Amino acid sequence: MKYHHFLFSILILFSCSTNDDFKEEIIYNDFQTENVIILVIDGPRMSETWFEPNQVNIPYRLDLKKEGVIIDNFKNRGTTLTMSGHSSILNGTYENLRNDGSEIPINPSMLQLWLKQSNQAKEKAWIITSKVKLKTIANCINPIWRDQFIPSTDCGNPNTGTTDRTDIQTVESFKNILTTHHPKLIMVNLKEVDAAGHNNDWNGYISAIKSTDAQIKEIWDFIQSSNDYKNKTALIVTNDHGRHDDNHGGFQNHGDQCGGCESIEFLALGPDFKKNTTIHSSNYEQKDIAKTIGMIMGFEMPFSDGKVITDIFSIPIRVQ
Ligand SMILES: [Zn+2]
Ligand SMILES: [Zn+2]
Repeated sequence: MKYHHFLFSILILFSCSTNDDFKEEIIYNDFQTENVIILVIDGPRMSETWFEPNQVNIPYRLDLKKEGVIIDNFKNRGTTLTMSGHSSILNGTYENLRNDGSEIPINPSMLQLWLKQSNQAKEKAWIITSKVKLKTIANCINPIWRDQFIPSTDCGNPNTGTTDRTDIQTVESFKNILTTHHPKLIMVNLKEVDAAGHNNDWNGYISAIKSTDAQIKEIWDFIQSSNDYKNKTALIVTNDHGRHDDNHGGFQNHGDQCGGCESIEFLALGPDFKKNTTIHSSNYEQKDIAKTIGMIMGFEMPFSDGKVITDIFSIPIRVQ
């Protein structure tokens, strides 16, 4: 891949299988992954997903985990609201944004940095969301980056331009965009879990967790059925935030630092990740996603104070 030169020096240390004393250091700066899709399920609690005692709401994730890796102690340590959570995923910093979409992030997103550093057309980077307000995080207020290298956006209902759309519509739009434009770096938001929670609709909330669980599988199967994406695409499933645990107000709302709001999921599928693995480390958090994707795709995230999530890769990685 043309843009995979020099940006990171990654020392891979590996042992020869026939001689444990023999170790070789190589400079490795390439991955099999050519495309990265971040799928943000908006606002489920871990107590209804991975921490539900029998994991009854997430059968598709459990099946997919055989092909990937999860971190079961992953946190949003910033503001546990939609705008701030999605922004921190994309730019690797915790910013405290107004949650109505009226405030754009300070720092540029990974989409802007990648578009600049890879010299790709804007049709190769997308924000595809059920929530219309998330269109705001395509831009930033950093004066060097404002209005520069803005990714393509498909946010909310295209007929109104001002309202949200269903997750089914978002997944259909995602498929159409992949077929039409062959993008390489994409963030998708599915909102119905969060909406049902705010409606204090427990049955709707559980039902939305189950339907988004099936949509993760639908998206993965779509990727693997496409010659453009099969075996060269990473899918990272995560959340912008959780919801209050039952000692801090329960599932209807979110936004503080209680354990329920902070705890989010992390599932990574793709050719360069470990398989059927659970990582218990508490070392990793939401703002680390951006630098991790930067390393995979060969671009730098100089504004991020996160770190690379080295433990998820199938080969040992040390970032210099
Ligand atoms: Zn919410
Ligand atoms: Zn809370």
